Amino acid sequence: MVTAIHRPTWLSVDLDAATHNLQAIRRWTKAKKVYAVLKANGYGLGAVQLAQAFETTAAADAFVVSNLDEALELRQAGIVRPIWVLGAWGYEDLDLFIKNKIVITVPSLDWLQHLPILSGQLMLSLAIDTGMTRIGFDQADQIAAAKQLIDQNPQLSLFSVYTHFATADESGEQSQHYFDMQLQRWHDLVDRQGFDPDLFSMANSATCIWHAGDPRISFAAIRPGQLISGVNVSNGDLPMPRDLQLEKVLGLYTELADVRFVKKGQALSYGATQTMPQDGYVGTMPFGYNDGWLRRMQGSSVLINQKKMPILGRITMDQTMVLLDQKYPLGTRVTLIGKDGPEEITLESVAAYSHTIVDEIQTTLAPRIKRIYTGDLAEVIGANNG
Ligand SMILES: *Cc1c(COP(=O)(O)O)cnc(C)c1O
Repeated sequence: MVTAIHRPTWLSVDLDAATHNLQAIRRWTKAKKVYAVLKANGYGLGAVQLAQAFETTAAADAFVVSNLDEALELRQAGIVRPIWVLGAWGYEDLDLFIKNKIVITVPSLDWLQHLPILSGQLMLSLAIDTGMTRIGFDQADQIAAAKQLIDQNPQLSLFSVYTHFATADESGEQSQHYFDMQLQRWHDLVDRQGFDPDLFSMANSATCIWHAGDPRISFAAIRPGQLISGVNVSNGDLPMPRDLQLEKVLGLYTELADVRFVKKGQALSYGATQTMPQDGYVGTMPFGYNDGWLRRMQGSSVLINQKKMPILGRITMDQTMVLLDQKYPLGTRVTLIGKDGPEEITLESVAAYSHTIVDEIQTTLAPRIKRIYTGDLAEVIGANNG
């Protein structure tokens, strides 16, 4: 995999804004601890750069990733705060977890009972399955047995006891019911087990934003992920609270690589699905579906010269055409996500056009797109030097 550093297509990531968002959500939820979720390369923005910004500013108390290699990447970049791997993991790599002080998730009592002999201290997070039906404990007696095993083994220590809500980002009555049911199950399973309440972690981004202040939820440690980008993670279903002022973090840009005159009626791109509506200029942009701008984005708009202009014809692997309102010089800036004068294309609007969620758009932006870090923190941590 090679990053196209010479191509004028780039994702800009504002590290000051990302840090502001994490600090804002800490105040909003009154959380004691903030565990920044940086799985999938920090939702595509760059896990190392975000972690360095959050560690330098103490905006995060720990980092959460999905697999061991993501955790090792952060350790190798010099991150010293705790790192927790969310996914269920076998026993093969326990030495790496121990040596690098990485927190492993306990998916079941069976897993815990069959742990092999350890080479040192292992930190654990207990997953409580209240309704995701993915990993974790769903029986109170098994949680009690796990707690006893951990308490009795000096090589095991507990980092977190946590659950994950399936419907915190939805407004409908059914979603509310499911959320309440999960909360009830949490209390049925975890209350009276004698855990230190500071270990509890229940809130993903949506729970932080729309359920803050609910006395039934522990905000001892929060786990926001997508919210770090400062977008509405409900995909428009729930309004963002007025007082929670998040800042936009990412922008996606390219430049016109070719501009040509094309006659009315001439077809463009694979399948010849669209023709020129009139004589005019077509711009060719150096990005395509291999950058994560998928074929379903055909017909959507980009911003050039502070105006919306439509993508014409199918998006190809590496090149995409746009209908211009006049001739523009080569190298003219094109905005795919971000502001251009009075116009703006948001990540939310791209997700809506694609009939999907913001997370999918953002994490699909390909590794070959170069990332450019902005904000004072980019300078402080040398984010653009790698
Ligand atoms: C992905 C994930 C998070 C973060 O979710 P967001 O909705 O992006 O905030 C938190 N906890 C768990 C268990 C997750 O899998």
